Amino acid sequence: MTLLDGKKILTEIREELSIKVQQYIAQGHRAPCLVAVLVGNDGASQTYVSSKEKNSASCGYQSRILRFDESMSEEELLNEIEKLNQDDTVDGFIVQSPLPSHISAQRIFDAIDPNKDVDGFNTINTGKLTKGMDCFVPATPLGIIELLKRYQIETSGKHCVVIGRSDIVGRPMSILLSLPKAGGNATVTLCHSRTQNLKQFTLQADIVVAALGKPEFLTGDMVKEGAIVIDVGITRIDDPSKKSGFRLSGDVKFDEVAIKCSYITPVPGGVGLMTIASLLQNTMKAYELKLGNNSKKN
Ligand code: NAP
Repeated sequence: MTLLDGKKILTEIREELSIKVQQYIAQGHRAPCLVAVLVGNDGASQTYVSSKEKNSASCGYQSRILRFDESMSEEELLNEIEKLNQDDTVDGFIVQSPLPSHISAQRIFDAIDPNKDVDGFNTINTGKLTKGMDCFVPATPLGIIELLKRYQIETSGKHCVVIGRSDIVGRPMSILLSLPKAGGNATVTLCHSRTQNLKQFTLQADIVVAALGKPEFLTGDMVKEGAIVIDVGITRIDDPSKKSGFRLSGDVKFDEVAIKCSYITPVPGGVGLMTIASLLQNTMKAYELKLGNNSKKN
């Protein structure tokens, strides 16, 4: 069994991006700029956003967090989005989920300029993804494809079972795996809470992507020998023995599954870090898109 090491790949990607940033700066351009918008005080969101900011800074990006109170209205947030859309010094930005319940997340995502939508949640990017067109792809599934590529794991012709059909993970994952191009060409089964006898599907899978948010859901008896298992789940479980008061659990019962499979991602240290890596890559893509557009205008 080989661990798919998100930390190692994130480090590689940060180094590649740092070199690009230095080259652009040497040519007289400014550094890429990523902004994260955070509404409210959700503990997990604060952790994710500050990790994204630190990683951006470590590869030479300008990065900042815009923090707003939970009581902010949808209209006020839409105004802030419009300012970011118009700000030429901002290449890409994200609005961290979850948003307070009085704000429609999709309305917010759809207000983001599709060329600055580095989380890939805008409906225009979703539509392009389904057609296999160049677009911003949601960072978590994009990171999983990148991880598989960097470990030279072939997806073509494989049977991939994705558990979970959310807009941000499961469904885009199933689309990417089925696209007729590198990192795709798989036969994909998409399972969800209405799937009956889910185990009959996971037992046939060459690659299982568990993205349902149920700790230790995927057990050893649900995977075949030699399968590749990608654990997307991150759930905080109360644990008084930890300084933080919690531990993180994935959707895979690691000890049981790891002894059967050929490759597996750890939690933490797997997909979560690849999500950050993809966000950094998407920000570089937005920056280069803008550079290209500006040079066409000049
Ligand atoms: P979500 O929006 O809650 O979607 C969960 C999906 O799982 C739904 O499609 C649901 O089916 C399905 N599901 C729930 N219970 C199931 C069951 N018993 N059997 C089969 N399918 C079931 O969650 P999400 O945003 O996709 O996130 C999933 C997990 O990934 C969470 O733990 C989240 O924290 C984690 N996550 C991690 C990263 C990362 O960077 N590592 C990024 C994003 C999310 P229905 O559609 O039928 O309800």
